[in-house]
Amino acid sequence: MDTNAIYKVGYGLYVLSANDGGKDNGCIINTVMQITSSGTFKFIISVNKANLTHDMIKNSGKFNVSILTEETPFSMFETFGFKSGRDADKFSEIDCAKRAENGLLYLDKYANAYLSFEVIDAVDCDTHTIFVAKLIDAVSLSSGESLTYAYYHKHIKPQPKKTEKKVTGWRCVICGYIYEGEELPPDFICPWCKHGAADFEKIEA
Ligand code: FE
Repeated sequence: MDTNAIYKVGYGLYVLSANDGGKDNGCIINTVMQITSSGTFKFIISVNKANLTHDMIKNSGKFNVSILTEETPFSMFETFGFKSGRDADKFSEIDCAKRAENGLLYLDKYANAYLSFEVIDAVDCDTHTIFVAKLIDAVSLSSGESLTYAYYHKHIKPQPKKTEKKVTGWRCVICGYIYEGEELPPDFICPWCKHGAADFEKIEA
């Protein structure tokens, strides 16, 4: 099997937000898909169980999806993608969040629209939960181009710097985290983006 082939599937990038017990939190996801288009609009999202936002959606049954644009700076990915809501109050680090009618936050900058959902089903999928949800509200915010995963990799994620110091290690192809060491443990999980060892490439010194 050529696992490089799976990287050719196209994705967008989104900030997923939730509120549970008065606490706001959000994370980056790349899996948002409309499933039905007549009557009630139904969507699915896939969320890593390690994310605090996952548990908040399980508890509250509600979430918002802010659709990111190509203007999104890398700092937004650092805030929402590479740290945990268990350690940081992510929304306090940004000044571009507003509260939607459903009481949850959305981004009113770097997003061209946001969608509000109520969960109607949850499917266990090993490391992830697939939430099936019905669309409650949809609001357009700007005419910016929706950000794709490919655009993020080409234009937003910092390119690896050529350093004089030779590092022996492994680089996470998702977020750029570097694991220093000759061998990467097969069960290693990236501390920034929570992807597994399969998403690491060897750094050739
Ligand atoms: Fe990573």
